[in-house]
Amino acid sequence: MLKGQNVHALERVKVSQDDTNRPDRAEVEAAVQTIIRWAGDDPQRDGLIETPSRVTRAFEEFFSGYAQDPVEILQKTFDETEGYDEMIVLRGIPFESHCEHHMAPIIGRAWVAYIPNGRVVGISKLARVVDVFAKRLQIQEKMTAQIANTINEVLKPQGVGVIIKAAHHCMATRGVHKADTDLVTSRMLGCFRDNALTRQEFLGVAV
Ligand SMILES: [Zn+2]
Repeated sequence: MLKGQNVHALERVKVSQDDTNRPDRAEVEAAVQTIIRWAGDDPQRDGLIETPSRVTRAFEEFFSGYAQDPVEILQKTFDETEGYDEMIVLRGIPFESHCEHHMAPIIGRAWVAYIPNGRVVGISKLARVVDVFAKRLQIQEKMTAQIANTINEVLKPQGVGVIIKAAHHCMATRGVHKADTDLVTSRMLGCFRDNALTRQEFLGVAV
């Protein structure tokens, strides 16, 4: 398990916008043109002429998570909670991601739970943390761990549980061609890992 600074160093990774190694938009559009020509079509024909710039804008959205810092998102917390210390669960958060092996869509939902230790975070922030990690090149196992680790590091709650269920288009539309399957991953930390009742309660609300 990753601990402390390692987690931050690994998971905050923000791509700075003025990174000199970062290709500019024209280079990305040219690369898309190359793929179109390689596929056997003519990037200059009417229907395709705007495609490279559209694809570039779409990719900009798909990978917008690199420019966002999940730690910053969770930083603002509230401590006037009347001592609330039960489970908080945000269920079925929809997300779209892309697999790092084929850049094919991963479409799924996340269940994010924690038991606070005095401080709580705005619930929309839990959904935003899911999005920050989804909008990067991913494997589901890593994304599940990143979400749980980050919440654990920043909020320092009594425990965190994350479950993700997702369909992988690299498996549905190519390769083994198995549509209608989904992959379930989970990461339990703190009391979610140590206490069977807590884990059961979470699994009960999540399924
Ligand atoms: Zn894949």
